[in-house]
Amino acid sequence: MTDPTTADVLVVGSGIAGCSAALAAAREGADVLVVTKAERPDGASTDWAQGGIATTRGDPESFTEDILAASADTADADAVDVLVENAPAAVSDVLVDTLGVEFDTSGAGYDFAREAGHSTSRILHVDASTGEHLLRPFLHYLDERDGIRIREDTAALDLITHEGRVHGALLDSEPGGEPAFAGATVLATGGIGACYRRSTNPPGATGDGLAMAALAGADVADMEYVQFHPTAYAGREAQSEGTGSDGTFLVSEAVRGEGAHLRNGDGERFMPDYHEDAELAPRDVVARAVDAERTETGEVVLDVSPLDFAGEFPDLAEKCEERGVDWTDGIPVAPCEHFLCGGIDVDDRGRTSLDRLFAVGECARTGVHGANRLASTSLLEGLVWGLRAGEAAVGNEIIESEPPELLDSDPDLPERFADEKFTRLRRVMEEQVGIRRTPDGLRRASAVLRRLKGEVDAYVRTRTARDLYELRNASVTALLVARAAAENEESVGCHYLEPPDATAPVDD
Ligand SMILES: Cc1cc2nc3c(=O)[nH]c(=O)nc-3n(C[C@H](O)[C@H](O)[C@H](O)COP(=O)(O)OP(=O)(O)OC[C@H]3O[C@@H](n4cnc5c(N)ncnc54)[C@H](O)[C@@H]3O)c2cc1C
Repeated sequence: MTDPTTADVLVVGSGIAGCSAALAAAREGADVLVVTKAERPDGASTDWAQGGIATTRGDPESFTEDILAASADTADADAVDVLVENAPAAVSDVLVDTLGVEFDTSGAGYDFAREAGHSTSRILHVDASTGEHLLRPFLHYLDERDGIRIREDTAALDLITHEGRVHGALLDSEPGGEPAFAGATVLATGGIGACYRRSTNPPGATGDGLAMAALAGADVADMEYVQFHPTAYAGREAQSEGTGSDGTFLVSEAVRGEGAHLRNGDGERFMPDYHEDAELAPRDVVARAVDAERTETGEVVLDVSPLDFAGEFPDLAEKCEERGVDWTDGIPVAPCEHFLCGGIDVDDRGRTSLDRLFAVGECARTGVHGANRLASTSLLEGLVWGLRAGEAAVGNEIIESEPPELLDSDPDLPERFADEKFTRLRRVMEEQVGIRRTPDGLRRASAVLRRLKGEVDAYVRTRTARDLYELRNASVTALLVARAAAENEESVGCHYLEPPDATAPVDD
């Protein structure tokens, strides 16, 4: 084993939350190491974000009210205040002044967009590919900045802990694992889309940070609140197994914000029958309506004829064309897994329940989203909490404690092991822990996932391959979601319970 790597602050993940934490820690004078599975330009949801980043504009109260209403009043009001109060300064300091992001303008000012659940236009965007216009300059800026090292294609496998304190993480850059010791560790590992058959997330969204933190004893919360986006492209390619890389792509909420209508297989516009805000109703309402209409009438399309689709959303028009979709006939859409509202439980500075462990972005549960997230608030949450946690993480001594012992990678791994287990895990999650749930289905799913986790654990203990750790992390995460869902008897936000006999039994 070579000399251990050290840093004042170790950041795991290079989406908006990890980059913001790294920037804030470096501004405080810390030596920062960012490790990330991603290889530019791909691998982070941030890069795929479309609609934009909401910010506080005009009356802050209305933003607070919209967030609380979207969450069915389950969001933590103090956390929402932190978001709303800090939004304008964070956006203008980091995104505009430091990175020089050129948000779309209209006349003399910004072209603020409106999306479902927002009572006014407050979303900054760059076309419908805002994420890449934020993240790529961010990474480039961090590359050039003193005090920050970024190691790509490097996964954290496990946390290094001693007496309830976190001293860093074990990386997969060497066969037996490479310890990286740090005064504080910030997890910014993103979402859990890879736990579902269909998701908008990149394939590496296996819940790594969540699982590592939970296995180390950190508190997690609100895990049952998995958000399904109502309008992911549902074409032929999207039916295959896997995540966003399979041809699924998101048709941003902004398209409905600009006037697109949802129509069922009979050509009827149905959303006004479900909610007074029709296509701009909260996400969970629209997602369930789309799901129900697809079941009843065979398909749902997004009718973009009320707007100048190619003019206003050139990147989405291009995505349709690449897949041979004639959008003038409507874009076939279906709900699919999109965002985890819960996660590693943190305070207003991203501190977890474990000493010297922080969590930010989608892997963290700040309380801002409660049971359901308002559109375009997660980039903002990653930015605001990333900055706050990065600052708070500075100033701890680096302690080189004993890292967990790992065996060398086994060259004779049965390649299909991870594939087979992942297929089973995703099927159970999609069928029983998806958009509609039943108490019986959730109990059975928990039992199946517990067995699956046991089989995976036995394997991972003797191997160090990244895909097996991802499988372990996905199985821990899936079980946390299923258990939390089984324990929550109240249908609220993204957690929707149907009568017990509404779904088919799980066959293991
Ligand atoms: C298609 C799409 C569109 C979206 N549109 C919007 C939008 O318009 N507005 C909005 O606010 N939100 C949007 N979202 C949600 C938002 O993009 C994400 O919630 C947010 O970007 C998450 O940021 P993050 O930094 O927490 O995680 P990510 O950006 O996903 O980054 C996670 C990072 O962690 C790394 N990582 C993971 N595990 C490990 C490990 N074990 N070791 C090392 N590195 C690891 C990954 O490689 C990646 O670099 C969208 C999401 C998707 C998928």
